[in-house]
Amino acid sequence: MKPIVSVKNLKKYYPLKKGLLYTILMGEKEYVKAVDGVSFEIYEKEIFVLAGETGSGKTTTGKVLVGLEKPTEGEIYFKDQNISRLNPKEWKRKGLRRKIQMIFQDPYESLNPRSKIYDILAEPLIVNKAVETREELDEKIMRKLEEVKLIPPDEFAFRYPHQLSGGQRQRIVIARGMILDPEFVVADEPVSMLDVSIRIDILNLLNSFREKYGVSYLYITHDLATARYIGDRIGIMYLGQIVETGPVEEVIQNPKHPYTQALISAIPIPDPEYARRKEIIELKGEIPSPINPPKGCRLHPRCPFAMDICSKKEPPMIEVGRGHQASCWLYEKI
Ligand code: SF4
Repeated sequence: MKPIVSVKNLKKYYPLKKGLLYTILMGEKEYVKAVDGVSFEIYEKEIFVLAGETGSGKTTTGKVLVGLEKPTEGEIYFKDQNISRLNPKEWKRKGLRRKIQMIFQDPYESLNPRSKIYDILAEPLIVNKAVETREELDEKIMRKLEEVKLIPPDEFAFRYPHQLSGGQRQRIVIARGMILDPEFVVADEPVSMLDVSIRIDILNLLNSFREKYGVSYLYITHDLATARYIGDRIGIMYLGQIVETGPVEEVIQNPKHPYTQALISAIPIPDPEYARRKEIIELKGEIPSPINPPKGCRLHPRCPFAMDICSKKEPPMIEVGRGHQASCWLYEKI
């Protein structure tokens, strides 16, 4: 099976703003290495999760994939098309704006408070010339409201965002992301601002678009519980790199990389017997700066298993199970 999205050695560096005098004296410019050599593939109807703490580079990766940021290096393929260096006009001309969409985290900030729901949903259809008649516009908007379970749709279409609950607003954000019938969607923490009781409904809604229309997702989260609920495969990010990847259930049940093990150790477990048996992996100190990340394995200053080689040489991705890889010297001889 061919991937719908292929990301190869993606890098996104932001130059640090320093004065001219500093640059002359110090010579080289400094960069924040937000994403630093990330590779993965996403298949049709697949939900690939990027998980990690704040600042690990997952949102930046998502923004580069939908063309909101330009990559510094690396390639992104959508089907067989290299989309890494296209400008906004080319995105529109090739129809990519319709095929690739992003759903943002904050349902309060991502909807214009002065627009009615109808106008919020009509805008992408009109801008992208996706409808020819007023009837077609009405029909598409009402159908999408029904699909996100805002029923009856004509009751919701003429309200303003502030007249809806947080969960209903996130349904509008999803309806807007889906109104052009995209093939690939980046969903950036779509449930993190919502009450726990409605998160599952929103995750099920995303899943329904995969089932009905074959949408593939990059699902970005810091929460391994939602990752486990919705994801097929996962990539765990640390300081701009993927350190472990594989089927979600396998990575969460049998984590190999010390960073993944520490993330899972930190999840509270309600079963006291299981909690007693669970091995606790603690990392030392704080996440280092992405301006000058540690040489070798980026986790080595914090890793309880660090060896000599870890501070000298970056570990490659090593096969640790079926479709399961970890970038760690502990598995060199497997
Ligand atoms: Fe720890 Fe070394 Fe593995 Fe890095 S390569 S995670 S420092 S054991």
